[in-house]
Amino acid sequence: MQCAECLDLLNPYHDGELLPEELAEVRDHLALCPECTRAYDELVATSHLLQDGLVRYAAPDVLNARIRSALAHEDATPLRPAFASPRWLRLAAAGLLIAVTSSLATWGTVRVRGASRTARDEILATHVRSLMPGHLMDVASNNQHNVKPWFNGRVDLSPPVPALDSTGFVLDGGRLDYVGGRTVAAIVYLRRQHVVNVFSWPEAGDDSDPSVVTTQGYHLVNWRTGGVAFWAASDLNQTELSEFVALFRHGGAEAKR
Ligand SMILES: [Zn+2]
Repeated sequence: MQCAECLDLLNPYHDGELLPEELAEVRDHLALCPECTRAYDELVATSHLLQDGLVRYAAPDVLNARIRSALAHEDATPLRPAFASPRWLRLAAAGLLIAVTSSLATWGTVRVRGASRTARDEILATHVRSLMPGHLMDVASNNQHNVKPWFNGRVDLSPPVPALDSTGFVLDGGRLDYVGGRTVAAIVYLRRQHVVNVFSWPEAGDDSDPSVVTTQGYHLVNWRTGGVAFWAASDLNQTELSEFVALFRHGGAEAKR
């Protein structure tokens, strides 16, 4: 069994919906493949989060993003009353619940057997999953010299990590993620409270200019440079996300294989 097939079957595997021979194949693959095992662990953790009361854990992550964003703008003082407001917390919790519901709807869509998962769907699902508590960062740092070397030996490219703080896009860190059955680099920037994920992986083909797709309230921008595919994903408005992509492309030395 290949990783892509295994990843496709993780949801029904977790839900106990596989036929016995499929179940055995997935179990055998997981026993041998740390990457699929990690993807499966994330799925299980997400499932537990939903069962155990997402709301209890939700607020600190949003607060965290807001605090970092506020610090980046040296504008923290007016935020204190807002943090203390139960109404704000309720809104935040409601927002996260919507995000998670939307994520599950996406998973529900892509888990249909035999249906081809488009790159767009995968990027969206991966982006939304990253917003869940504890999933956003493997290396949390706003210093590109900490983030970039962290990927050495973990992915088969050296992802560009341009410093864009002066433009209002603050580097927040990076992590490994999974798209289309492969391990990819994800670099995280913050604009106000909006998370921007930049996914990249080696991909043969000509260079292509950024193109934007909008799906379920998220904007996804895809381009290819020097044999590396890039996807930027955010709920940031399209204008600002396009601005970010232009800055990122300008500021990032090309990814080296
Ligand atoms: Zn695998």
